[in-house]
Amino acid sequence: MKKKLAANYVRIIALCSLIAACIPLKSAEKPQTKKTIAPAAIAQCPIDEAAAIKSAPAKKPISALIRSETDIPIALSMMTLQEKVGQMVQTDIAAASPQDIREHHLGSIVSLIPKGNLNTTQAWRAQADSYQIEALKTRTGIPLVFGIDAVHGHSYFDGNSVILPHNIGLGASRNPALVKRLAQLTAKELSASGVRWTFSPTIAVARDIRWGRTYESFGESVELQKMFAASMVEGYQGDDLAAVHTVGATAKHFIADGATDNGVDRANASLTDRELRSTHLPGFIDAIERDVVSVMVSFSAINGDKMHANKALLTDLLKTELGFEGVVISDYEGIQIGGLSLQQGLEAGIDMFMFATSWRTSMPEIISLVENGQVPLSRIDDAVSRILKMKLKLGLFEQPLSSAACATTVGSQQHRDIAKQAVRESLVLLKNQNSILPLSKESQVVVVGSHANNIPFQCGGWTKKWQGAHRDLFNNAERPVDGATSIIDGIINVIGKDQVIDAGSSGFSNATDVVIIVVGETPYAEGFGDRTAAELVLSQEHRALIQRYYDAGKKVITVLISGRPLLVNDQIRQSTAFIAAWLPGSEGQGIAEVLFGDYGFSGKLGFSWPRNAEQIPIHIGDPDYDPRYEYGFGLNTSKLD
Ligand code: BGC
Repeated sequence: MKKKLAANYVRIIALCSLIAACIPLKSAEKPQTKKTIAPAAIAQCPIDEAAAIKSAPAKKPISALIRSETDIPIALSMMTLQEKVGQMVQTDIAAASPQDIREHHLGSIVSLIPKGNLNTTQAWRAQADSYQIEALKTRTGIPLVFGIDAVHGHSYFDGNSVILPHNIGLGASRNPALVKRLAQLTAKELSASGVRWTFSPTIAVARDIRWGRTYESFGESVELQKMFAASMVEGYQGDDLAAVHTVGATAKHFIADGATDNGVDRANASLTDRELRSTHLPGFIDAIERDVVSVMVSFSAINGDKMHANKALLTDLLKTELGFEGVVISDYEGIQIGGLSLQQGLEAGIDMFMFATSWRTSMPEIISLVENGQVPLSRIDDAVSRILKMKLKLGLFEQPLSSAACATTVGSQQHRDIAKQAVRESLVLLKNQNSILPLSKESQVVVVGSHANNIPFQCGGWTKKWQGAHRDLFNNAERPVDGATSIIDGIINVIGKDQVIDAGSSGFSNATDVVIIVVGETPYAEGFGDRTAAELVLSQEHRALIQRYYDAGKKVITVLISGRPLLVNDQIRQSTAFIAAWLPGSEGQGIAEVLFGDYGFSGKLGFSWPRNAEQIPIHIGDPDYDPRYEYGFGLNTSKLD
């Protein structure tokens, strides 16, 4: 427990140090074949009657009055100011005990680093319920809502959840129907562990690949933001948000998080109103039209005005002009990290505040802002009524305790098959000299490279831990990605063990003519992935590895694992085939299935691939647009009979 809290403190300190350093931490369309693939079935969740019975309230708290939205005003009239403000607080699970929930009437929990090493859904649910039971004991009896960063599957779960390709890969698939199914499966895996709200989708239009969050974006264009925002929200939320196999979605980060100057995370975006509305807003409009339950505020600023204090954009645009009726949630300690005041955040229109430990001081501060007349009670009532509406929609008043209904779906073969399809469709084939690909399944291949047999590396950031499942930059231990298949194991599964020579992470083997080299970036999240243009290259070790096999006359097939395009002209020249595989997640076998012709390559670039560092940032539509590979580029191959 202490260790986990410490880990969270490290995260907070790291977040704060980003700010302290004035943020820059630079030295931190589809081919015919695919359409014929029958979609894999999604695992079903049987009815969990036990949970419904367990959830029946024992006494009559205020919550018993709330059966529809029309009941909210009367409930509000019965709530104390402290009870109302409690609803507006979301605490990191590591920073509050179940008793804190009861004593302080807190309304929500963000499970960032769940306490303990809980690798079963039962353990997760027991933990969630231990908090929920305390919330139900309060005078209001209003249930908690649990939120989590399930940005590529239920990726923080300690057990065998399916880890999906990050959005950059999904963007390359150009397949919104598939992405909707991915969101559906994620919703089930979340629900099975007691979580009914995800902080996803990120619908950032990333305009500069130096930005460390580029991989969380579907691509550089509004076209892709619009292609996927609605389908992802539909997938998470389903037709009936109260059904246990659905979760609330969060469109983030509002707005223009991907447009910051020089791609610096959380920095200022210099934008015209036209750019803001034509490039960064349409995806949010689509999400709102699909009734997305929440919108998360961006850490960044627009033309000098920090978003967490931006009434013009949060209230006037989002709530009033666009008619968003859901919850505006701050980013993690967004007020503190932005050097803002709670009054500014409240006045701007934030309804729920994501706090780490600071809720203990922030809560009384909000209460006194209202008592002193600095913030009108009507603002608090607006916020709480939005939060209660969201909880109602999620069916939490009817069934506050977690349900085991979806338990058998977690990490199921059906879910893995859908994820594997996503991996296959996300791959972008940049070069295929002499049509070397697909390789015959009779081929003998050497497989080498630090990313060939490294599951945390293929999953990227936001997997198990903030910065990724590997031993991260804070020296946090590696965490297992149960049930995952590495890229080399996927190759072995497809062509057989006897045909694969494993040369390790950097070995040389002369055994075969064809060598599959799997290299790339190591995981990062947020500002810790910001780079200068010159830094967007492979490591010296990776460059030397490709060079060595090239010099030995081998046919090099390079599989690049990365969160964005890199400057790899020499490595592309030295490779007979070159594949941008992005961050594929747990189903590494998807790569082998395309390399060896079970399926064709079909992915298309969602980002322009620059020719050199000077071109960065580069986008489709730029004057003199001359990238190495254009936005939308991607070679196709056919399935082998
Ligand atoms: C990120 C959000 C995330 C939140 C909670 C923040 O640092 O910007 O995308 O949802 O943390 O982890």
